[in-house]
Amino acid sequence: MSVEQKINQLRDELRQHNYNYYILDNASISDYEFDIKLKELQALEDANPDFFDANSPTQRVGGAITKNFKTTVHDFRMYSLDNSYSKEDLLDWETRIKKMVDGDVQYTCELKYDGASMNLTYEKGKLVRAVTRGDGVQGDEVTANIKTINTVPLQLKGDFPERFDIRGEIILPIKGFLKMNEERIANDDEPYRNPRNTASGSLKLQDSAEVAKRPLECLLYSIKGNNLNISTQFEGLDKARAWGFKVPKEAKLVNSIDDVLDYVEYWDTHRHNLPYEIDGVVVKVNSLFQQDELGFTAKAPRWAMAYKFKAEQVSTRLNEITYQVGRTGAITPVANLKPVELAGTTVKRASLHNADQIEKLDIREGDEVFVEKGGEIIPKIIAVDLTKRPGNSRPTIYIENCPECETQLERLEGEAKHYCPNYNGCPPQVVGRIQHYISRKAMDIEGLGGETVALLVKGGLITNYSDLYELTVEQVIPLERMAEKSAENLINGVEASKQIPFERVLFALGIRYVGETVAKKLAKHYKSIDALMFASILDLVTVDEIGERIAESVVEFFSFEENRKIVERLKTFGVQLEISAEKLASQTDKLKGKSIVVSGVFVSISRNELKKLIEDNGGKVSSSISSKTSYVVAGDKMGPSKRTKAENLNITILSEQAFLELLK
Ligand code: AMP
Ligand code: ZN
Repeated sequence: MSVEQKINQLRDELRQHNYNYYILDNASISDYEFDIKLKELQALEDANPDFFDANSPTQRVGGAITKNFKTTVHDFRMYSLDNSYSKEDLLDWETRIKKMVDGDVQYTCELKYDGASMNLTYEKGKLVRAVTRGDGVQGDEVTANIKTINTVPLQLKGDFPERFDIRGEIILPIKGFLKMNEERIANDDEPYRNPRNTASGSLKLQDSAEVAKRPLECLLYSIKGNNLNISTQFEGLDKARAWGFKVPKEAKLVNSIDDVLDYVEYWDTHRHNLPYEIDGVVVKVNSLFQQDELGFTAKAPRWAMAYKFKAEQVSTRLNEITYQVGRTGAITPVANLKPVELAGTTVKRASLHNADQIEKLDIREGDEVFVEKGGEIIPKIIAVDLTKRPGNSRPTIYIENCPECETQLERLEGEAKHYCPNYNGCPPQVVGRIQHYISRKAMDIEGLGGETVALLVKGGLITNYSDLYELTVEQVIPLERMAEKSAENLINGVEASKQIPFERVLFALGIRYVGETVAKKLAKHYKSIDALMFASILDLVTVDEIGERIAESVVEFFSFEENRKIVERLKTFGVQLEISAEKLASQTDKLKGKSIVVSGVFVSISRNELKKLIEDNGGKVSSSISSKTSYVVAGDKMGPSKRTKAENLNITILSEQAFLELLK
């Protein structure tokens, strides 16, 4: 078999597994085997750049950075939908339709997926472009981001038209949304409000690798094009499914508006069993010929109608307001409710966000309150039923002292939240900080979990994360659910964490506002904790993407003697508190201040390696050529329009060889 054949065979195979897994929901290979094959393909592609294909399964991991999304005009305008809220509305709509078309009317009923709409263009079975709805006439091209979504086929199967557009909704399934939020809460980041906003916010992230991490899906509902040989909406859905798209099976073809009403009623009560959120149903005249006859109003098709479900609301009693203390000391007030059924789950608690929110709604213990679960997963209190307020009711007085350690709370100018400043003595902060330190994205200490950390603190065995390194097997064994083997694992896990690179240690320290990305930037710039410790606010803000808020937080962290002592101890235990010599050797300032565009396919180095090389040498990778571009590094198959642009702007074009030479 030739290399090309092997590459094509692997691509086909991976595509099929991807399809089985994401579209059919029926895995045909283990994740591990899939990874092995993907790596094999990646290696072959790296070694044989002539066979590069932008739609290869290897391209799903993302990596492309887009600074400015290109505005693109839609070939077919993306209309909005008219809304209806009642049976009468739907009957009126039917009457209007029947006046305008001859013969019987069938309807395709579909779910109204709650996400962000997307137009995908396919040519010769390959995805060539993905554009947001924008204002309906033109949107933003977000192809690099959309390619990372596994349910978007990059290569179609079967008998597809030469060229067409297909529309769908980018959604975030509820499970994936909750998982993302679990991680955010563990990191003490504010959780995302609802799946819809999180999905639509993902489309225009600049780093497509970030998008790849989010479990987004694309559900398709409409095909547009010329000479498609499709005569009904329902047939279109079937065909799209056969070409490899994810088209939910809940779509139903019905013969009368009465059947439409049944469909609406069914999904109004059963929608909570779906893996994703819907906000209604969309009803479409099935015949495309009749659709043509009906045409469009200024903003929406006459042949379609959305039926919007009402946001579900119930009223219940607010028993008590309690306060939670997070790892950074942030206080969150929580409404403890008389348990009530809402949108398919029992609701017992709702977040009250902060003191302002309580004041604005004048929420008091003992009140009867309205709880809503609209697009939001976390229920919220939208109002108080004042008619039911008990006579002895008193306004809520926000706590002034920490519920865990009694310390007086602080509220910084301009901040919505109160904080407990008892950094070293407030139990949830002490425990939370160590839990963060050991977490997967930080020091990833195997054999040690959050509950054990709480036990260690409670038992007085540790008071901060540097104490972990002095624990012994004998000390740990007596803890609940510990045995000799697990105690040894724990100690070994702690020992192994001494190899974790500096940037992750910096993240693990738990400095407020220093997340993973910021930690990377700071590690790269300062190279050691000693340099960072002595950096001033003025100096910190000169670092790329570091603002005043982060700078102040870093300076504050190191202003505490206690923190400096802990860092010193970590150092004596051998934790990595500077960039390794090896890594340092690969870093220079040679490209400092240079903005570099990479284009084409490379022979001796992968695109990602090339980008990393630029960054390691102090340069900035930019995605589009402008007068600010310093160089274009051009590989094979650099786009002709890019080349012309670079030439017109008199920008130096370097070959792969010339560029590598430059760094020597
Ligand atoms: P609206 O944003 O309220 O005008 O509703 C129109 C939007 O509903 C469209 O732009 C789509 O993004 C979305 N939508 C969700 N599901 C469907 C569906 N099955 N058919 C058509 N549009 C849908
Ligand atoms: Zn406290």
